[in-house]
Amino acid sequence: MVVTRFAPSPTGYLHIGGLRTALFSYLWAKKNGGKFLLRIEDTDKARNSQEATQAILKAFEWLGLEADGEITYQSQRDEIYAKYIKQLLDEGKAYKCYMSKEELTELRESQMANKERTMYDGRYRDFDGTPPEGVAPVIRIKSPKTGEILVKDGVKGTISFQAEDILDDFVIARADGSPTYNFVVAIDDYLMGINEVIRGDDHLSNTPKQIVVYEALGFSIPAFYHVPMIHNSKGKKLSKRDGATDVMAYKEMGYTPQALLNFLVRLGWSHGDQEIFSFDEMCELFDPKDINKSASIYNTEKLDWLNSHYIKNTSNTELAELLEAYDIHLTSHDKKEILLDALKERAKTLKELAELINEILTTPTEYDEKAIKKAFKGNAFEVLNAYSVKLQNSEPHLPTDYHSLMEEVVSEMEIGFGKIGMPLRVALLGKMGGPNIDVIMAVVGKDETLRRISQAIEKNS
Ligand code: GLU
Repeated sequence: MVVTRFAPSPTGYLHIGGLRTALFSYLWAKKNGGKFLLRIEDTDKARNSQEATQAILKAFEWLGLEADGEITYQSQRDEIYAKYIKQLLDEGKAYKCYMSKEELTELRESQMANKERTMYDGRYRDFDGTPPEGVAPVIRIKSPKTGEILVKDGVKGTISFQAEDILDDFVIARADGSPTYNFVVAIDDYLMGINEVIRGDDHLSNTPKQIVVYEALGFSIPAFYHVPMIHNSKGKKLSKRDGATDVMAYKEMGYTPQALLNFLVRLGWSHGDQEIFSFDEMCELFDPKDINKSASIYNTEKLDWLNSHYIKNTSNTELAELLEAYDIHLTSHDKKEILLDALKERAKTLKELAELINEILTTPTEYDEKAIKKAFKGNAFEVLNAYSVKLQNSEPHLPTDYHSLMEEVVSEMEIGFGKIGMPLRVALLGKMGGPNIDVIMAVVGKDETLRRISQAIEKNS
């Protein structure tokens, strides 16, 4: 069974890059009928926060990505890590190193002076003397001194790391006993039964160290997929300004979960030239072997395009529910179908859609100067009054009803359609633009239409 995981460090919000690897891991597990587990890497007490963990869970909930089983918190697993530290010490695969800070600094400075690589020199590796007094030791793992460590990566191919170049005997437990990052990641991945690790390629340099831990403990090594980073349009690592921001900010900006997930799945993965993927399709088609080898480019226009695609293709009932988050309450509005049908093609985001709806549902408080000049001239008020009279004497319901009344005025007064359309529009909205006027009137209803017309005349004559 394929078991994948997402292992965020809760140092801040969940950002777009993290979410993408979470999505890839989720999809790959689902495609194989496997499991997607969540592990919170909260060992760094100074930098981690409960809020950050909550923010990650909230983002998952918004996007409908549910992790299987219990969430694993590294902060609750000290005993497990201690057991493995002891095991490695007992087996002679790890050792106590009593080097003081001063000695380490001295070593580093002399290596630098000799233009050597700065690394631990292994002086306590085979130490059997009397340890110095007053130094709390760190625990170092014995890593191979020769040969190579091979990382078999499903995206990048096999990468060879020369043991002597990169692997000094790295610390697995600090002087206070707390275990270090690469040590606990390897232990947790093994104990959680993770057999496929999909993560950002910024972690590639950690992988050989984790392999040293796997091997020392006799654990089987998972398959790795290191996903290239997301770049901005200038080819640089995505920054906050480019969109590498809190996933929940995308909700605030008015993106739908489907659009965001569809956008992310295509950042670094492709299936032919298909762009639109329903969630089920993603689950069915995703395969990490199709992850691109080079960095992907973040493109806001693409995200907007996908978002408007999804807005257009979302049912009005569902749209009304999504719009609740933007303070638009249409779920029991009797004209929501008409309103949303008229506007959903015009908005790139739910926020824009909410603004367009607000413009229609709110009685104007001011009138655009230019619009007034253009619309309220000649006998415009007379036309508006004639329309009001027609309205008062009928019970219009649908846009076509309002339209017929406009046509009656046009023919009775022998005017062009613009002579009623423009003043009505400005009376209703306070400005030009917006969807068909008959739609606006049907949505706000007869009484509100009458109110807006008389207010416009009153305020502008
Ligand atoms: N905790 C790491 C991070 O947030 C991820 C570790 C991993 O995926 O192996 O970057």
